[in-house]
Amino acid sequence: MSPQRTLSIIKPDGVAQGNVGDILKRFEEKEFQIKALKMLLLSPQQAAGFYAVHRERSFFPDLVRYMSSGTVVVVVLEAPEVVARLRELMGATDPKQAAEGTLRRLYATSIEKNVVHGSDSRESARKEIHYFFSDSELPE
Ligand code: GDP
Repeated sequence: MSPQRTLSIIKPDGVAQGNVGDILKRFEEKEFQIKALKMLLLSPQQAAGFYAVHRERSFFPDLVRYMSSGTVVVVVLEAPEVVARLRELMGATDPKQAAEGTLRRLYATSIEKNVVHGSDSRESARKEIHYFFSDSELPE
């Protein structure tokens, strides 16, 4: 099966809680290759641009505030079927609904502060990777 790429973000709560090492280790245990990685403090404008699909939702202002409240780690992962496999490892958006052993079940504290992002399709993955990484920062 040909490898895919996806974008993950360890969100501000994940960084603040000290979950970065554990989450990266979980990625590597699943044999997701880390192809690119950087730590960023998003401006409210960058956070709003990233989550533009949600701009009409009532929680959008809170989401923008949260995502720009502290440093995040953005990571490009590569593996066969990694888009779906990362979503499975993350668990449901609401940690109360997330399956046992998923990252959100383990580390998330609310539906908003849910520790980790993963692209929801190959098309979103392509756009989201290019939102944060230029071609010269991405290996072939
Ligand atoms: P995801 O694909 O599982 O991350 O979920 P969505 O794309 O639906 O939502 C994007 C992000 O918005 C989530 O990961 C949460 O951080 C936040 N979010 C989603 N639903 C809610 C909500 O009802 N309230 C608040 N405050 N934040 C939410």
